[in-house]
Amino acid sequence: QVRTRIAPSPTGDPHVGTAYIALFNRNFAKQHNGQFVLRIEDTDQTRSTAKSETDILNALKWLGLDWDEGPDNGGPHGPYRQSQRSDIYREHINQLLDNGQAFHCFCTADRLNEVRAEQMANKQTPGYDGHCLSLSKEEVKTRLDNGESSVIRMRVPTDGECVFNDRLRGEIRINWSQIDMQVLMKSDNLPTYHFANVVDDHLMEITHVIRGEEWINSTPKHILLYQHFGWDVPEFCHMPLLRNPDKSKLSKRKNPTSINYYRDMGYVPEAVVNYLGMMGWTMPDGREMFSVDEMIDHFDIDRVSLGGPVFDVEKLNWLNGKYLRERFDDEAFMQAYAEWAFNPDKLKMVVPLIKERVERFSDVIPLAGFFLSGSLPLSEADFEHKSLQLEDSRRLLQFALWTFEGLPAWEREHISGACQKLAGFESLKIREALFPLFVAVTGKAVSVSVIDSMTALGLDVTRARLRDAIN
Ligand code: ATP
Ligand code: GLU
Repeated sequence: QVRTRIAPSPTGDPHVGTAYIALFNRNFAKQHNGQFVLRIEDTDQTRSTAKSETDILNALKWLGLDWDEGPDNGGPHGPYRQSQRSDIYREHINQLLDNGQAFHCFCTADRLNEVRAEQMANKQTPGYDGHCLSLSKEEVKTRLDNGESSVIRMRVPTDGECVFNDRLRGEIRINWSQIDMQVLMKSDNLPTYHFANVVDDHLMEITHVIRGEEWINSTPKHILLYQHFGWDVPEFCHMPLLRNPDKSKLSKRKNPTSINYYRDMGYVPEAVVNYLGMMGWTMPDGREMFSVDEMIDHFDIDRVSLGGPVFDVEKLNWLNGKYLRERFDDEAFMQAYAEWAFNPDKLKMVVPLIKERVERFSDVIPLAGFFLSGSLPLSEADFEHKSLQLEDSRRLLQFALWTFEGLPAWEREHISGACQKLAGFESLKIREALFPLFVAVTGKAVSVSVIDSMTALGLDVTRARLRDAIN
């Protein structure tokens, strides 16, 4: 029985990369009449949020990539959220500790930094030096009883190499000397990704691990864990990462990466998921428009091409346009457009901003049309201002972009704080500092509150507008 999974960490916006990997996992499972599982990897408690989890689940559902087992619909291998599986990890780490395949490490951050600095100076691969490997059982017990803080690391061979097979890449060899004695349990008693991921893949009976190629170098650690436990190793299949048109790894600094952005900009899910299916894969007959079910009918994971697939928004625009023209008759277009434009979640944020300023419904579009637009048609003349030169405005926008990236959450108070900081930094009045933002985000020098507008538009759309204006 084939079982695959997508295992997102709920630490940010739903990434198109997550949807792409989910699509290929789901196709593979469906094609073999197997199951596709969704597991939430939220062991990083400082970065994981409930909102991110909800957003990821909703985004995958919007694309039609549903799952057979998951945190919302349950299943026989739950819970499907790692933060609810602590007892399972505890039990399993004890097994490794008893066998001597894992050990307590009491090294302080200062000591680890010193070791690292020395290794770097000697041009050695940085990694744990095995300092606590030689502690006796008694000493470990005493130090634990004294309440000393510790982590649990895995024992890793020092010689030889790990040889494993990747379904797309064939045999991969990595020297054990390159593999660090990975922390498996942190001092807060929570597992790291590597440990929880392997334990869960085994207990959830995952047969094929299809994931991004950034995990290839971690695979030896995972294989070693399977061996320590005496478990069967699943088949690994590392997919090529999505790339920007300049071939660098797809990043939000260059391209919108959040599925929410594509939803908010009025792409249709059929086109987005079709486009993701063209990443590293083609239909055997070369056709470019296909549904997920058609893709499953013809799916063959061995035909995935390893040349970095380029996620090109221009190409997606073309495909989306083709969908709107060819797959939506006027009636369907009307309905889909109305659902998008009058989305209650969005309207709920927009209406309070405009209500005080309109006399008739016909005033709404001139005032709030920018909420329903993609890029705004702006020219340099729009940025003319009595005391700000063009380069001042550009610098302000760039600075705003950087500051917004670093906000802990896209919420009004944080955005407002960032704008105050921006004005302070440039010794400007807040009105002046906000001028280029007004133009870039709303298309006009005077409009409804730009801070409220950015809050409603979301980080991705805001980021895209600022980037457009800077360029
Ligand atoms: P950015 O560089 O834009 O900040 P990131 O790598 O920090 O992106 P994360 O938020 O860490 O993005 O990733 C979220 C999820 O998306 C992860 O599961 C990651 O594997 C996946 N992902 C990120 N970038 C890519 C990519 N280029 N191709 C495929 N999947 C990706
Ligand atoms: N939580 C990991 C991620 O978000 C999962 C990686 C894997 O599939 O093993 O990328």
